[in-house]
Amino acid sequence: MAEHDEPVSHFIADMIEKDLADGRHQQIMTRFPPEPNGYLHIGHAKSICLNFGLAEQFSGICNLRFDDTNPTAEEVEYVDSIKADVRWLGFDWEDRLYFASDYFEQMYQYAEELISAGKAYVCTLSPEEFKEYRGVPTRPGKPSPWRDRPVEENLDLFRRMRAGEFADGAYVLRAKIDMISPNLHMRDPAIYRIKHAHHHRTGDAWCVYPMYDFAHGLEDAIEGVTHSICTLEFEVHRPLYDWLLDQLSVPCHPQQIEFARLNLSYTVMSKRKLLELVRDKVVWGWDDPRMPTVCGLRRRGYTPASIRAFCRKIGVTKMGSLTDIALLEHCIRDELNASAARAMVVLDPVKLIIENYPENQIEYLDGVNNPEDAEAGTRPVAFSRELYIEREDFMEDAPKKFFRLKPGQEVRLRYGYLVTCTGCEKDPETGEVSAVTCIYDPETRGGNAPDGRRVKGTIHWVSKQACADLPVRLFDRLFNVELPDDVPAGGHFRDHLNPDSCKEIVAKGEVMLLEAQPGARYQFERNGYFIADAKDSQLGKPVFNRIVALKDSWGKKHK
Ligand code: ATP
Ligand code: MG
Repeated sequence: MAEHDEPVSHFIADMIEKDLADGRHQQIMTRFPPEPNGYLHIGHAKSICLNFGLAEQFSGICNLRFDDTNPTAEEVEYVDSIKADVRWLGFDWEDRLYFASDYFEQMYQYAEELISAGKAYVCTLSPEEFKEYRGVPTRPGKPSPWRDRPVEENLDLFRRMRAGEFADGAYVLRAKIDMISPNLHMRDPAIYRIKHAHHHRTGDAWCVYPMYDFAHGLEDAIEGVTHSICTLEFEVHRPLYDWLLDQLSVPCHPQQIEFARLNLSYTVMSKRKLLELVRDKVVWGWDDPRMPTVCGLRRRGYTPASIRAFCRKIGVTKMGSLTDIALLEHCIRDELNASAARAMVVLDPVKLIIENYPENQIEYLDGVNNPEDAEAGTRPVAFSRELYIEREDFMEDAPKKFFRLKPGQEVRLRYGYLVTCTGCEKDPETGEVSAVTCIYDPETRGGNAPDGRRVKGTIHWVSKQACADLPVRLFDRLFNVELPDDVPAGGHFRDHLNPDSCKEIVAKGEVMLLEAQPGARYQFERNGYFIADAKDSQLGKPVFNRIVALKDSWGKKHK
């Protein structure tokens, strides 16, 4: 098992530590149980890091189990993507890849066992009647007229359900528990239903399928899971989970433990909503770099380590809360600050003419590849009379505190010279600035004046003669409100989509960037972290995605 990150401490880790110390278990087993009906998202990553992480931390094992008990909506495409994503996050299920559908026969036998024990019955109530009989939390339910059907008759009917004699919905198998329990899940829940549907793995072998609550605990018990970790909404299902395992001759009784799911600001995480965005082509696909899916984050430029760091920082609690997406952004910034090569790229170029620099001269300056990493060395950066700078780095009528280019002010060209702005040229028709002019001080090569005079502003630039056109996509949050799921009556979460979540531009950058390998990450100085898109880049023709801007709102708040 891969060695990862430092151990974590939270209530589940404490419980496991105690169970091991008490000798309750010799080795722990957890599982990650996705339903293959969508792509994994950052919320799943929390569960993956938790389950696989605990197994690693306590020298246990973690299974990857597809919870594929629902035949409709499940697809092989999802199974493959989920495996790829878990592996990419850095986790290994070794030879323990399981499918709940592999246990269908065993589950069926357990259902017969429950019937034989007089603890399950075949019910003929229609779905509407079922609901009415069940009652509400404040009003007891009433028993189904079929509740006391004799065992033999139940067995016969259940076998005929399996044999395909009945239509969908004609019968259900229900556990016989307690119709007056304040917990609705205990009021004789349905545990098997008839569904004549093709299953992606078992084909047409079955027309009865177990319900989630019946299946999940059995899956855990069959595998020998010790700690079955799930999200808080299953807390009210726990009595049923335990009841079923207590009745049946299962090999072990795993402990269900609940934790709060991840909610992220500016993000929707429901699979149904994500699927809708993909189907309606609101985004380019599941791996759109704006999607909170694991493949979307990967394409956006996030690393497995940054996602694991994020999952470590958010912790594990029983209190539901909203996590600031700025924390996720902080994690990737933190990693790339240390590791990403620097480059100069001008996103919104305007010409800068150095009036006293020789016309046909090109010289090469030393660009520092990574100030955080002395071993990364330097690269030659072409410098010439005409450069491109960011349009916003010049202001004709600038306030006092504007330390970049304004007439009469001296600034530093990164790795280059000190220049003093002399003015600008304008398009006679539009009045737009078409070039900024300046003079340079030849004594300041490298960016420092021999007389020690202070220059506050430093700007980046590229040589007009020696630069490359680079397609760049500036991503922003997909939604423009913190809680896109909160919609007023009659509204829709899509009303909150940010119309400017992807701005495509052609930037001017250092020529060396043309050789960027797909997947290579850079810090474009002052503009953020970028990655050469793994899908759209071709050799010699990279397309860059902005991963994040440089400004770290989370880091600032939490220093
Ligand atoms: P569905 O409604 O389709 O069941 P789901 O999000 O629960 O959606 P699963 O495939 O069942 O999807 O999830 C697999 C595991 O990931 C479950 O154990 C689930 O609890 C966990 N999980 C899902 N979403 C989150 C989240 N936002 N935070 C933490 N864990 C999550
Ligand atoms: Mg689920």
